[in-house]
Amino acid sequence: MIIAKTPAEMRAIVAANESRSRGLVPTMGALHAGHETLLQRCRTENELSILSIFVNPIQFNVVTDFDKYPRNIERDLSIAEHHGTDVVYMPNTDDMYPEGFRSHIEPPSVADPLEGEMRPGHFRGVTTVVAKLFNATSAHRAYFGKKDFQQLAVVRRLVEELDFPVEIVGVETVREEDGLAMSSRNVRLDAASRLDAPIIHRALRAVATLHRAGEARVEALENEFLKVAGQSRSMRLEYASVRDASTLAEIDMIVRPAVMCVAVWYGEVRLIDNIELGPGSSAMQ
Ligand code: AMP
Repeated sequence: MIIAKTPAEMRAIVAANESRSRGLVPTMGALHAGHETLLQRCRTENELSILSIFVNPIQFNVVTDFDKYPRNIERDLSIAEHHGTDVVYMPNTDDMYPEGFRSHIEPPSVADPLEGEMRPGHFRGVTTVVAKLFNATSAHRAYFGKKDFQQLAVVRRLVEELDFPVEIVGVETVREEDGLAMSSRNVRLDAASRLDAPIIHRALRAVATLHRAGEARVEALENEFLKVAGQSRSMRLEYASVRDASTLAEIDMIVRPAVMCVAVWYGEVRLIDNIELGPGSSAMQ
């Protein structure tokens, strides 16, 4: 496994592997089984499998969240190795954003609602770093989790609007046995919150069940979420909203693919999750 520490080192590796198909899994490290699914998929579908690990300061709108973001590089490297990763790209902040750095990618409009509203500047940081990672790796395919549903939609649209020659692959959310979506932030939950947190997925599943039974009115579906999530002892709800799956615009009725996106807080820890609804979604099967 080769480690590249600067954009120049990464590009040199690409040049030496010009003829091989290249897959990229962008992460911020603290790898868990969700990331591992992305790595496996990348390994299977590409000749050169690249993992990037970079805790991107410009996508954190709250500095303490960046400071407290879990980091465990030794463990990450052994997981990467285990999955047959060929290259780990782990640049440092000064090489990514040298003194005087100012160029940014303005995110597409799908970045405006939900996370975009709650975390101003977040997606501008994401689109900028993703563009830099695409440029440094010249990946043919890049793998993103559906856990961050809006991020996936933003990246898809970014690639369309700016003609990046990369195929974006969305990967299903990997969950703990009790349904909690795996996230690097879960380790920051205290014991009581960790016990309570599976209610997020339970409430989302209740919404999917109601929808499957024929309820297509968004208001009724959102109320179902509130009813189940209301039983939580400690969760603070930030938003729970059913949206069009590709634009994330508000809708009144589900007639096309849709998604319910939620963001909640347990103490200082913010968690997001979602469930796809409507025609073609697994919730309808
Ligand atoms: P992060 O390191 O949290 O920025 O995540 C890196 C990539 O892993 C993103 O594309 C995430 O959507 C994806 N990811 C994070 N958690 C999960 C999960 N539980 N299941 C599938 N993919 C995930």
